[in-house]
Parts: sequence; structure tokens; C-alpha cells
Amino acid sequence: MRYERDNIKSMQGYVSGEQPEDRDFIKLNTNENPYPPAPEIQQVIADFDARALALYPPARADRFRDLAASLHKIRRDNIIATRGGDELLRLLITTFVNPGEAIGMTDPTYSLYPVLAQIQDCPTVTVPLEKDWTLPDDFAAQVNRAKCKLTFLVNPHAPSGKLLAVDRLADIASELNSVLLVDEAYVDFVEDRYDSIPLILEQDNIVILRTLSKGYSLAGLRFGYGIGAEDLITPMLEKTRDSYNLDLISQLLAEAAITSRDFAMENCRKIMIQRDVLRNALLQLGLDCEATQTNFLLATVPAGFACSARDLYEALKAAGILVRYFSEPKLINRVRISIGLPEENRKLVDSIKSLQGADRK
Ligand SMILES: *Cc1c(COP(=O)(O)O)cnc(C)c1O
Repeated sequence: MRYERDNIKSMQGYVSGEQPEDRDFIKLNTNENPYPPAPEIQQVIADFDARALALYPPARADRFRDLAASLHKIRRDNIIATRGGDELLRLLITTFVNPGEAIGMTDPTYSLYPVLAQIQDCPTVTVPLEKDWTLPDDFAAQVNRAKCKLTFLVNPHAPSGKLLAVDRLADIASELNSVLLVDEAYVDFVEDRYDSIPLILEQDNIVILRTLSKGYSLAGLRFGYGIGAEDLITPMLEKTRDSYNLDLISQLLAEAAITSRDFAMENCRKIMIQRDVLRNALLQLGLDCEATQTNFLLATVPAGFACSARDLYEALKAAGILVRYFSEPKLINRVRISIGLPEENRKLVDSIKSLQGADRK
């Protein structure tokens, strides 16, 4: 006898990138930051007194919310702190979408979105991106026609790394009849001038997702936050959030992360420089690779290259380097490569070079 709901029985769970524990790989597969977090983080851990764990933590992480509010020049009521950006995504669905109502997104997109939709028993409406990864002009119209209650956009986009301008986001939000989640997991790696936060004061339907996982080198901490109009944030904060969704230690570490933000942003700048270096090296090897605004590149393996994308992924893995391969149709001839430390990126390039050499013999 199986007792789970029918939609849970029939769905596939989220498949995360490989997180091997048994062997030292160069990990360029899950967009983690190769640099360590700020020294202040280590200090908070060293100073922590375990007796503090006897009490429940602050329920709403108000000290963190105040720090984030002052960073972004908005009010505490515009912010909810969550267990990773991923918890915010789940809260948005729980709070704004009934089971059976549609959720809009692009194809391709962050592969967690359709999984979360299925958990709530919601159909997914996917709008294919154009060949150059841009949004079709009638994106909002398509989502409205399908009566979506919530729409997910990732900006800069994953896995293409392309950025939508703030004006375009504003146009989309004002045309949509649904809540719009703008997932800014990679915003700390954006080169262009880009600040979408003022939009939350103009539009009553935008929530922006931020995370400490990528830009702050804290993927293991599980801390993110949402930014939006008070009427969107309050029901999640007061009703649908787990009673104590963030443990005390993670709250203290997240506060230290915001306070020492300059350290993290300096590392992001190093990654942005390496992004250009690696891209040029991949182009020289004969891979196609457009510029991105994220901490990863999406390399296309052209016809006539020494091997297929899948074989490249396998051969690199055998050589101790993990990159991400997606078997879905739009990504079948590509690999996504997270930017690593300079020496890690060099090893990647050398490995691809020696593969090509082996192929010629
Ligand atoms: C990493 C990521 C997130 C959030 O990740 P958390 O670790 O849960 O904060 C959200 N969206 C995208 C596209 C991501 O890549």
C-alpha cells in the first residue's frame, strides 16, 4: 500500500548536480563559489556559545532583515529571510497558487521550478526562449492567456547567463496578471549597471529572490531572502513560513555575511575576470561560448569537435573534473561550467586540450 498523494506518486524528484563525497574532484558543476567566505564568518563560528541553542531563534530573523533592508535602501517589511532561495520559491507557491492553478516559466529554466509546481499539483506553462535565449515579445501575453497565478523568471538567466534589462522586467510585471518572481541568484556576478529593487516600490506583483549561496560563498549555509511589496511579503512572513524557519547559527552567519559584503564582492570580481579568461581559452579550443553575467559559462560543443557534449562531460569526469551536462533537447550539445579558481580553470582547459590530442592520434 502506498499512501502518498497521486501527484507525488507520479512525479520525479529534483535531481541536483553531483555532490561526490568519496573523491577529490575539481567541482565546476553546481555553481558554487570557489573562494572561501569572509573571515568574519569563521570568527562567528569560533565565538559561538552552544548554550545559546537551548532557546528558539528569532522567528523572523529581524536583525538580518534590518541589515538587508539598509543594504538595499528599503524597509524591513519588504524582506523575508528564508532557508535558501529555494524555500522562498516554495513559499510563493504555497501562498499564491491553489492546487490545479498554472505556474508560468521559460524553457529552459532552473529545473527546481517544475518540481515545486508538481508538489503543489499545479500544471506548468512553459514558454520556449528564442534561439538566442531571449524572451519572446509576447511572453507576458502567453502567460496571461494560460491564466498563470505565478510566473518564474531567472535573471540573469540560468543556464544561458543572459541578463534582461530592468525596463523589460517592469514591462513584463505591469502586463502580467500574476505574481512575478525574479530569481536573482546570480546577480552578484552582473557586469552591467543593473538594479531591479526600485521595481518593488512601483509594482505590487514583483518578488525578487536573493541568496547567499553563490555570491557570498555560503551554499552550505542555506540562507536566502525575498524582496517585495509589503502585501506580498506579509502573508509569507506571518502565515506560510515554518514557525522557526532559520536556525540561530545560520542567522548569525548571515548577518556577518551582509556586514562583510565587500569581501564577498571582491571575490565575485575575481570570478568575473576569470570568466573572461576561461571563455577566451574555450573559444580557442574550438568550443562556442557566449559571454555570461553569471559565475558559469554555457559551452556549446560544435559539430566536428573531437567528441560530443556528453562524451566531454564523461571524459572530464574521468579526469577528475565535474561539469554539468543536461540531457534535455535544448541543451543536448552543451556543458555548463562553473568558474573555478584560476588553477582549476587551467586544468579544465588542459584536460580538454589533451582530449583533442588523444582524438587526433
Ligand atoms: C542557486 C539558485 C537558487 C537558490 O539557491 P539556494 O541555495 O537555495 O539559495 C535559486 N535559483 C537559481 C536559478 C539558482 O541557481
